[in-house]
Amino acid sequence: MGFNTELTRRLGIEVPVVQGGMQWVGYAELASAVSNAGGLGILTALTQSTPEDLRKEIRKTRTLTKKPFGVNITLLPTMGAPPYDEYAQVCIDEGIKVVETAGNSPKPVIKLLKSAGIIVIHKCTTIQHAASAVKLRVDFLSIDGFECAGHVGESDITNLILLTRARQSLDVPFIASGGFADGQGLAAALALGAEGINMGTRFMCTVEAPIHINIKQAIVDASEHDTELVMRRWTNTSRYFKNKVASEALKIERTSTAGKFEEIAPFVSGKRGREVFINGDKDFGVWTAGQVIGLIHDIPTCQELLTRLEEEAIEAVEKSRKVLQPRSNL
Ligand code: NAD
Repeated sequence: MGFNTELTRRLGIEVPVVQGGMQWVGYAELASAVSNAGGLGILTALTQSTPEDLRKEIRKTRTLTKKPFGVNITLLPTMGAPPYDEYAQVCIDEGIKVVETAGNSPKPVIKLLKSAGIIVIHKCTTIQHAASAVKLRVDFLSIDGFECAGHVGESDITNLILLTRARQSLDVPFIASGGFADGQGLAAALALGAEGINMGTRFMCTVEAPIHINIKQAIVDASEHDTELVMRRWTNTSRYFKNKVASEALKIERTSTAGKFEEIAPFVSGKRGREVFINGDKDFGVWTAGQVIGLIHDIPTCQELLTRLEEEAIEAVEKSRKVLQPRSNL
């Protein structure tokens, strides 16, 4: 038994689970492990310093898996100025079949990708943004609830509402993102009308995730209360793991009279966050994590995780069926 959805059919995957783009985590090791386990692994374009480095990472991933995998291109404020179109062109040149886009003004990049026949999964945190992406002919929407890690948007709508709104008002198939870590979550997402789920933080806590074991353990030890929302003042609200640097950044955000982004920039810097994953000091910089950290209690391989997740989802669907009885038996 397994799940046959629009997502598994279009992407050629076995389990309806996409590994979301994660800065400084979405390298070849993780993407290939997720794909080998039957989901869709995703490389994060901006984790590679240049488009040429992304090309090398794509080629490296191909040596590690024969299964489909994708690339994430996130268009949000950055301290540098990434050449998004060049990253997209590398995806096209290298024959990537699926790209996850996210962020602001995605039209030029989506148009470029679509003109090359690439399947585009666009991630958004509001139905209005989803409707705009539908006009750009994206293939799937990734509906990202407020529970999610990283850029939560400014509307704070959680997934029970957001997914139902998506089902009620969008013509394009969608996957559910934010707050998913297990098969019960997958079954719930399918019941709400999604074709599958996107998981980020859950995959950080796997054997193959190329980050320090201390950070995986910090996730296991954390509860759903251990995230912090920073950067609302600059309409770029991000959900981080609650640590010393995130709290410091939040304090500056709340107390600064000038309100200049430059004041907190050294605290929220991605380069500093990257060090966390290398040196294992969870307080060295900010790093994104979803509320789902409260649901994660172990560090399995990607194969163990997806096998278990599929079994749990099947069990949840069967359990739901069992409560259905002819009225005469009630
Ligand atoms: P960075 O060091 O350039 O910036 C650090 C943080 O500050 C990011 O959240 C960024 O959005 C924000 N920021 C930068 N300039 C800003 C400004 N002028 N106003 C408001 N906010 C500003 O970021 P990075 O770690 O090198 O990552 C590069 C980009 O890729 C970022 O936008 C990042 O958020 C994005 N990204 C996010 C994910 C994810 O997991 N959500 C995945 C892939 C990429």
